[in-house]
Amino acid sequence: MVCKILVGFLFRCARYAVYIYGVQQLPSRLIEAAVDQIATLPGIGRRTALRLALSLLRRDTERVRALSDALISMSEGVSPCRVCHNLTEQDVCSICKTPERNRKLICVVEDIRDLIAIENVGTYRGVYHVLAGVISPMDGVGPADINIAALVLRISELDQDTEVIFALPSTMEGDTTSFYLYKKLVEFDIKVTTLARGIAVGEALQHADEATLARSMDNRTLYEI
Ligand SMILES: [Zn+2]
Repeated sequence: MVCKILVGFLFRCARYAVYIYGVQQLPSRLIEAAVDQIATLPGIGRRTALRLALSLLRRDTERVRALSDALISMSEGVSPCRVCHNLTEQDVCSICKTPERNRKLICVVEDIRDLIAIENVGTYRGVYHVLAGVISPMDGVGPADINIAALVLRISELDQDTEVIFALPSTMEGDTTSFYLYKKLVEFDIKVTTLARGIAVGEALQHADEATLARSMDNRTLYEI
């Protein structure tokens, strides 16, 4: 009786494992290899990888080759900008190369996507420094793992008119990184600012959380018409 219950329990565990991990017999080792590769992408589990692999199988070979060629060209042709670590097909990115950009105004961002978001607004005329991460001891990311040393070197070559804007996430990791950077940059006697944090545009006051409301009150500005 106990044995029967145990077998039933193990069977249910195995079915659960198949559901969770998508451990399933595939009809071809080539499909298996493709699924293995697709499943290495962030946010893609084996079930989604299988769906994508089957979708690629339904395409004609030329379209699959075009996709494959585009990925290889991107991998071989795109690299970080030597100055700011934005992505570029050349040694220095188009933002760093633009003469009208203010090189003494440097916006520090965690990720390329943050740079793109600020660029899409279309009002910022300074340059950037992409850290490619934030300090996160929980994830084993320390100051040496992100582009902090390059930023310090860059600032050391500029004069005191320089302003560095911290545009980092409003999280413990973002705040830790801002604090660490500030300690590194304070010796250069430059202006260090951070993005304002407060009530979002269009957000009702009563729906804001306490931390946001408190920060908005602390960071209040002169009312101007
Ligand atoms: Zn650049």
